[in-house]
Amino acid sequence: MSEKINISEIFGQNVFSQSVMEERLPKKVYKELLKTMEEGKELNPMIAEVVANEMKDWAIEKGATHYTHWFQPLTGVTAEKHDSFISAPKANGKTIMEFSGKELIKGEPDASSFPSGGLRATFEARGYTAWDCTSPAFVREDAAGATLCIPTAFCSYTGEALDKKTPLLRSMEAINTQALRLLRLFGNTTSKKVMPSVGPEQEYFLVDRDKYLKRKDLIFTGRTLFGAMPPKGQELEDHYFGSIRERIGSFMKDLNIELWKLGVTAKTQHNEVAPAQHEIAPIYSMCNIAVDHNQIVMETLKKVAHRHNLACLLHEKPFAGVNGSGKHNNWSITTDDGINLLDPGKTPHENVQFLLVLTCIMKAVDTHADLLRESAADVGNDHRLGANEAPPAIISMFLGEQLEDVIEQLVSTGNATSSLKGEVLKTGVSTLPDFVKDVTDRNRTSPFAFTGNKFEFRMVGSADSIAGPNIILNTIVAEAFAEACDILEKAEDFDVAVHDLIKEYATKYQRIIFNGNGYSEEWVAEAKRRGLPNIRSMVEAIPAITTDKAVNLFERFGVYTKAELESRAEVMYEAYSKAINIEARAMIDIASKQIIPAVIKYTTVLADSIQKVKAVSEDADTTTQEEMLLETSDLLRDSRTALARLEEVTAAALEVEVGETQALYYLKTVKTAMDALRAPVDKLEMIVDKDMWPMPSYGDLIFEV
Ligand code: ADP
Ligand code: MG
Repeated sequence: MSEKINISEIFGQNVFSQSVMEERLPKKVYKELLKTMEEGKELNPMIAEVVANEMKDWAIEKGATHYTHWFQPLTGVTAEKHDSFISAPKANGKTIMEFSGKELIKGEPDASSFPSGGLRATFEARGYTAWDCTSPAFVREDAAGATLCIPTAFCSYTGEALDKKTPLLRSMEAINTQALRLLRLFGNTTSKKVMPSVGPEQEYFLVDRDKYLKRKDLIFTGRTLFGAMPPKGQELEDHYFGSIRERIGSFMKDLNIELWKLGVTAKTQHNEVAPAQHEIAPIYSMCNIAVDHNQIVMETLKKVAHRHNLACLLHEKPFAGVNGSGKHNNWSITTDDGINLLDPGKTPHENVQFLLVLTCIMKAVDTHADLLRESAADVGNDHRLGANEAPPAIISMFLGEQLEDVIEQLVSTGNATSSLKGEVLKTGVSTLPDFVKDVTDRNRTSPFAFTGNKFEFRMVGSADSIAGPNIILNTIVAEAFAEACDILEKAEDFDVAVHDLIKEYATKYQRIIFNGNGYSEEWVAEAKRRGLPNIRSMVEAIPAITTDKAVNLFERFGVYTKAELESRAEVMYEAYSKAINIEARAMIDIASKQIIPAVIKYTTVLADSIQKVKAVSEDADTTTQEEMLLETSDLLRDSRTALARLEEVTAAALEVEVGETQALYYLKTVKTAMDALRAPVDKLEMIVDKDMWPMPSYGDLIFEV
């Protein structure tokens, strides 16, 4: 039996939370800090000094020897540089532990090796990290000991954002301002702050680490580059929500404990559709905290897996032909006094407000479908989107029957009132329909689905940071709110104006709504007819962020400058090219050093066996061996030819102009050559003696965890 776990005892024990601060800081200092957090003001250096000192003492009590500014550069993973608390020894040879206010609020890592997309020349390496005091510091325990991690934003010397956190905080500011304007129009005078709430559902695979170590493709690229399908796939769907095996259960237990200690509200866990695939979801929280926590979840998944001699694969498509992993970004908008703007509500005016919010979101999603699509683009996700296992690459919105009907009525008559089964919510406006709360059925094929009181953006990749998608969501919705408020604040008769606006938006942006099967061919054709963009790859999605439309949007709300957007595009093209280059080189390496030699050995065994059999009896029938030898040799030759081609184009790629042109070359030419090599190799895997095949098979990896 395992030891007893008391969640309430361990939850948040390694977090320098508000309650810890309240308990440990002088009252005045605590109040000042709270004010800074609530109003987003700059922290007074005197206060910072006191907070730093207390934070240090607390961390040292937890066993911390080092501290780090924990930040999120454009690589998509977190970065940290550790400093110990040690200071220069005194005359008596003793050292004291030091950590100043300055060290708390500002760090200066050498930024030159982080991607900046030309924002910062190498000789201007200076970059600053600044404490995001709305996200609490925490002590992380691992083999390196205990480290105080301070969540920070990362900027250049001239103030340009070099990370994902800074624009995220800016986008939260934008939606806060605009949503407050909207609430005031509906008579709300009490809410002081409006923040996006986010709950990401994280999918991942677990494989045995010893087998993982025998797969160079997994080690170098996070996905398998070769691999024939096992006799059994996921067709029985017996894994989904199936009972959790002991080894996995023990992993999940440790994972939860680690996460709870760090204040991450790990809530649900279950097996996913594919064998060896699982999911974890926390309880939703404020957007920037959810982003930080998701990074912690991804890091902790890897760490705890290692302890269990497992390897956690976060890649979107570790195994071709097997369902990949995504991350569902559940998103809503909440006030500091607990009102969810995406909740249809109970009273008529809330219902009208909801309809305005809903139609504003329709407008935002339709107007900026290209941006949303881009925000879900990463190298691995190209394998999923549009491949009948994840949403298509086309952005649409699922509202469910009920709401779609409401929109329909608004559009067709503008005066409709309907009486529907269930708990009918009155709009109180004779010309607006009443509707039933939350009778939405689920639609797994929709990229952006309304689920009762939140939207679920289901397109995001499992390995990606959720900062990007939330920056886009916050900003595009802020814009729609701003434009609605511009009109409504000037209106003479608010009721009439809001009714007209809801009807106008519902009509104009109705094309973005689709409740049918998003995986179907008909939808692709229908979407084309509606003029909705279908952007098939990451490389083709990138230009969306530097269009005039995007630059205007982001500059208007102070989320990104034009230079910051251009730098991000550059970083993404480069990231794509680098990733495919590594995959191609890994394939070349594995094919030349492992697969081709193994196949040659096998053909030798076949040839020997033919001779040996014939030596016993000239009349023996060796046609089977001969046919197999021929087939194997043919595939071997095909592999060798495809390998030569891949070598050629991979070398040529380096000569192509860096940026979009090179990324497109990798997409169109190198990837095609990779597929051409994989095909004969996967066929060979089905023929060659299993004992001679140089790496564990798909079956070994996903059925024997
Ligand atoms: P599902 O049935 O899709 O798994 P859940 O209710 O389990 O839905 O929620 C999935 C995620 O959505 C969880 O992280 C949950 O905390 C989060 N979530 C629930 N309500 C909201 C909300 N109002 N805003 C944002 N996220 C939410
Ligand atoms: Mg869900």
